[in-house]
Amino acid sequence: MLARSQTMSGIFARATQLGGLMNQSVRVRFAPSPTGYLHIGGVRTAIYNYLFARRHQGVFILRIEDTDRQRSTREAVRQILDSLEWLDLKPDEGPILQSDRLSIYQEHIDTLLKRNSAYRCYCAPELLEKKRQQAISEKRTYKYDGTCRKRDPNEDPGERPYTVRFRMPDQHPDHFNDLIMGAIPIDGERLDDWILVRSDGTPTYNFSVVVDDACMRITHIIRGNDHVANTPSQIMLYRAFDYPVPQFAHMPLTHGPDGSKLSKRREEEYRKLGISVSVQEYRKMGYLPQALVNYLTRLGWSHKDQEIFSREELQTKFDLEHVGKSPGVLDPAKLKWINATYIKQTSDQDLANLLVAHLSDHGIRVEANERLCRIAASLKIRSETIVEMAQKSLFYFHAPTEYDPNSIKKWWKPGAKEILTKIREDIPSLDFTREASIEKALESLASELTEGKLGKIAQPLRLALTGTTVSPSIFEVMSILGIEETTKRLERAEQYLAQRD
Ligand code: GLU
Repeated sequence: MLARSQTMSGIFARATQLGGLMNQSVRVRFAPSPTGYLHIGGVRTAIYNYLFARRHQGVFILRIEDTDRQRSTREAVRQILDSLEWLDLKPDEGPILQSDRLSIYQEHIDTLLKRNSAYRCYCAPELLEKKRQQAISEKRTYKYDGTCRKRDPNEDPGERPYTVRFRMPDQHPDHFNDLIMGAIPIDGERLDDWILVRSDGTPTYNFSVVVDDACMRITHIIRGNDHVANTPSQIMLYRAFDYPVPQFAHMPLTHGPDGSKLSKRREEEYRKLGISVSVQEYRKMGYLPQALVNYLTRLGWSHKDQEIFSREELQTKFDLEHVGKSPGVLDPAKLKWINATYIKQTSDQDLANLLVAHLSDHGIRVEANERLCRIAASLKIRSETIVEMAQKSLFYFHAPTEYDPNSIKKWWKPGAKEILTKIREDIPSLDFTREASIEKALESLASELTEGKLGKIAQPLRLALTGTTVSPSIFEVMSILGIEETTKRLERAEQYLAQRD
């Protein structure tokens, strides 16, 4: 980042001396506006920038675009930083706050005014609004009519509020090249004398973004294609400053599962499907950050038909050439599948650490100790999210207070109580630290009582221990519960059956 004291001539000299971006090392930026939570589409932009920087041994900059003082909040900045940290997308430079750079924008405005590339506009907002409405009613595209463009800059208009407008040149390129979208035509009809600085002195987005991207020597602007319409105005401003124009790569947006634009208003509907507009929600829903990065990268970018990528692979394989042109449609099933794959690859200890927080949501306070590691190990092949894993682990902490009625019908037929009693009586002779010992004992019970059919022993037992017939291996469950707890749960089930029969 340039020091604030650096003079404009210094900046220009540097920019001109570079003479182009070809030989420069890659510098990219993620530039969120802190006006709300970090949007999942924004995260995808951050990821693409980050990976592009890594792939080209470049620099990834985080710039917080907070010049809209009304809507920017510190809480939103905090959330952006937290989310990027969670996703392990650490910036090489920044966070740089635009609000710390107001004097740089002022210097740039002075330069433009001096060059006659900008002018002060004293038109009253109400009058402009009237003209805009008029254009709308006549089905014309509204453009500023240039009233103040012709004003003599030396004329003293007195103490009146003013904006600063860009003096749009007559000549403009007929297109720009986008690294994702290809050649994009520039429509002169849409280029007007847009506002650089508002009447309250704050710079507009189109102005500050160009100043910052130029001063920060950004080589590639990778951002959502909702900004395509801004790019021609921005290119004209680079030219007015004689700054080299960076390369643009406009990414297709991220859409909801039904293919329509993501909308915050539909959050509840999304939540039920296991997705959200807000990245922070994914953490709460039990997704692993690496899985989310893998999923979002792959959404709209491909490398042959590979689905699972290590971070190293993403950093060496990611390229803009293979980013598609159509919107990335969020697919909850695929996200969960990728998450499940990552869960299986995660160490028991790391899973236990994650489970601690999710279990506390259920009022269970535990440490990530050896027992919790074993619990995680028993559930990692059957959980798509950490939330699901926590949910499925509850029976380890709480003995069942009721039993699944369908399973009762199926597995607790007359005679079931005797099976449970027999198992309980055998327990003292078993080595609970070894699942194999439990397995052997149950197998021999099966040959004694159920013609060797282990399921006929295991299912009634599972129902007694967990309240359902879906759980990790019953030997594993018994071993983790331990002799005392297993015995207690069997006794309770026997009592239940004694009352029933
Ligand atoms: N602050 C803008 C946004 O959040 C950044 C756009 C850009 O990358 O130029 O949309």
